[in-house]
Amino acid sequence: MIIVPEREIADLIGRKDAFDAVEKTFAAMASGAAYNFPVIREAIGHADALYGFKSGFDRSSLALGLKSGGYWPGNMDKGLTNHQSTVFLFDADTGQARAVVGGNLLTALRTAAASAVSIKHLARKDAKVLGMIGAGHQSAFQMRAAVEQRDFEKVIGWNLHPDMLVRLEETANELGLPYESLDLDRLGAEADVIISITSSFEPILKAAQVTPGTHIACMGTDTKGKQEVDTDLVGKARLFTDEVAQSATIGECQHAVAAGIVSEDNIIEIGAVINATHQGRTSDDDITLFDGTGVGLQDLAVASAAVELAVQKGVAVQVDF
Ligand code: NAD
Repeated sequence: MIIVPEREIADLIGRKDAFDAVEKTFAAMASGAAYNFPVIREAIGHADALYGFKSGFDRSSLALGLKSGGYWPGNMDKGLTNHQSTVFLFDADTGQARAVVGGNLLTALRTAAASAVSIKHLARKDAKVLGMIGAGHQSAFQMRAAVEQRDFEKVIGWNLHPDMLVRLEETANELGLPYESLDLDRLGAEADVIISITSSFEPILKAAQVTPGTHIACMGTDTKGKQEVDTDLVGKARLFTDEVAQSATIGECQHAVAAGIVSEDNIIEIGAVINATHQGRTSDDDITLFDGTGVGLQDLAVASAAVELAVQKGVAVQVDF
């Protein structure tokens, strides 16, 4: 069995590898070659932790396994990341354990890759202004991946906690782009692409604030009850997602589906656009919304890529198991 420790991941797998792995996975999901198993997520009644599994199987790549992970709010005080993830891969032909891979950085890379895939396939080609809602740990990964998809000339940002906005400014500067913090009215009016990546349980962005032609990637809502945009905006947009079942239950579309504003039939898997079986954006005036809920197959895809690269580069730890 192979171990790829967390400390090796940064030098092994880059944004391009993650993007390619996630794009292929979404395509495989839409063609029926790959599917996710039901998600398990539990408050375990210890250390205030939320813990669970995301798992699945991709028959095209033979990626089989699970990501075990969760949220330990007290970790920061111990000098550890609050979100902790580990990916376990199994041999699809024998069921034997194949690899254990550190999943913390991979989670950020695969989540950023998902919104970048949505931008590639759904944003207007002439998009110039990137709007960021959220300035936490994931936001910098999101921004770096997004700017590789269009010729963005400016980044604008908003966050509930203004002291965190410095992260957006520093990341934009690192990417050589001007940055401005704005209120939500101006952000909605000026952005061509908006990424929301927050822990919000209330709608932040409203339908009235968004202009025709905008592409929105809602990436923060991955649990029942969370919400980043109002249901009117969901009702007005062309809807795309990684997985329809998750979108309607734990994703951004959950509230609009529950309110009867949209049905699951209105939500298209982004893989269908990648596979060219759905046209995606139909005009420069469409508002497109990608509901990135985060699927286990994304984790398996980037972990498999990391294992392959670790073996190639001779940094995979082989253990008798
Ligand atoms: P973080 O804790 O570093 O940052 C949280 C962000 O949310 C900050 O911008 C903060 O200001 C904002 N925020 C906190 N409470 C808020 C509230 N009540 N209303 C509005 N904004 C609020 O978290 P992170 O690592 O950047 O992750 C952000 C979100 O993305 C989390 O909710 C996480 O669960 C989610 N996430 C989704 C996926 C996916 O695949 N879809 C993957 C990883 C993380």
